[in-house]
Amino acid sequence: MSPVENIYDLAVNGVRQLVPYVAGKPIEELERELGLTDIVKLASNENPLGPGKKALAAIQATLPKLTLYPDGNGFSLKSALAKKYKVNADQITLGNGSNELLELVARAFLAPGLEAMFSEHAFAVYPIVTQAVGATAAIIPALHYGNDLAAMAARVSAKTRVIFIANPNNPTGTLLRQADLQRFVSSLPGHCLCVLDEAYFEFVDNKEGINSLDWLLANPNLIITRTFSKAYGLAGLRVGYSLSSPEIADILNRVRQPFNNNALALAAAEAALADGDYLQQTIATNTQGMQDLTIGFKGLGLEWIPSAGNFVSVDLKRPGQPIYEALLRLGVIVRPVANYGLPNHLRISIGTPAENQFFLKALADTLANV
Ligand SMILES: *Cc1c(COP(=O)(O)O)cnc(C)c1O
Repeated sequence: MSPVENIYDLAVNGVRQLVPYVAGKPIEELERELGLTDIVKLASNENPLGPGKKALAAIQATLPKLTLYPDGNGFSLKSALAKKYKVNADQITLGNGSNELLELVARAFLAPGLEAMFSEHAFAVYPIVTQAVGATAAIIPALHYGNDLAAMAARVSAKTRVIFIANPNNPTGTLLRQADLQRFVSSLPGHCLCVLDEAYFEFVDNKEGINSLDWLLANPNLIITRTFSKAYGLAGLRVGYSLSSPEIADILNRVRQPFNNNALALAAAEAALADGDYLQQTIATNTQGMQDLTIGFKGLGLEWIPSAGNFVSVDLKRPGQPIYEALLRLGVIVRPVANYGLPNHLRISIGTPAENQFFLKALADTLANV
């Protein structure tokens, strides 16, 4: 064998320069590091209620069938989604989390020489999937921490192939007005796809007002992504879906793995979709928790970015990292967002009432000691 190359030089261009996604710290990791128990994790926008009873029962019922491959077309889950959202099943693509759909979009539609556009403070997966396929990222400065649609529209060029917009946005929680967004989507040239990432739409106060599904017919270049990871409480199972024109669904279907959703995930997601009580309880817990946390921030003299999601980013007016580390020592995991261009903020996922109070006490103690 000839002398070993530097393996990094062998990786394709985009991949060589990638910085891996930084996830919220796992509870077990902090337990190992500090020997703590009873850790409160408010770091990954997970559902604090635990999985719903119906989802758990569906998993139990599926266990004896695990020698079989899952339904690679996800017929049953797609049918349930189609019925709930009044779309045709051929408009739905299932993903291993909605993250997979973001990646499938990049693989199917982006390449070197083409551009993906997204906002400053946007979800960290957008730059990763863009770079991994060697496409260029156009990052548009935020407006009041959110997507600046006018600035984005002004930057669209012949090279722009995909625009990623999270609404509500993570990590800032900002929400665009539907009318503005609809106008933006309708104004895009035919060569430009728009991915509307609605991972948090179930939490939006006035979600009846969210009518992006109605735009699909007139906008065959629109892709709406949603997930079972947040409001439906199944982040560990990895199920997301997209709603689009049948043509886009067909293209995404060509690049996905044949069995990208496992059998437990398919069964649990379908059961979760039918569990209206769990969803209601989730939303009520979130509404109350958001109120409790923001009242707590106010009491500490802190400002925050008003959020439509199940998380809130608080402005500490000083570097967030040392506060994050001090909170870890008290058994609370939150999310630093310096890598999102927000070095003085920390993002807190809404927890149970007890978790929220535990966090607020830890934050007060920490701030009193710095
Ligand atoms: C959490 C999140 C997702 C969903 O991720 P999954 O892969 O479905 O778990 C997608 N987009 C945004 C903006 C998110 O915050």
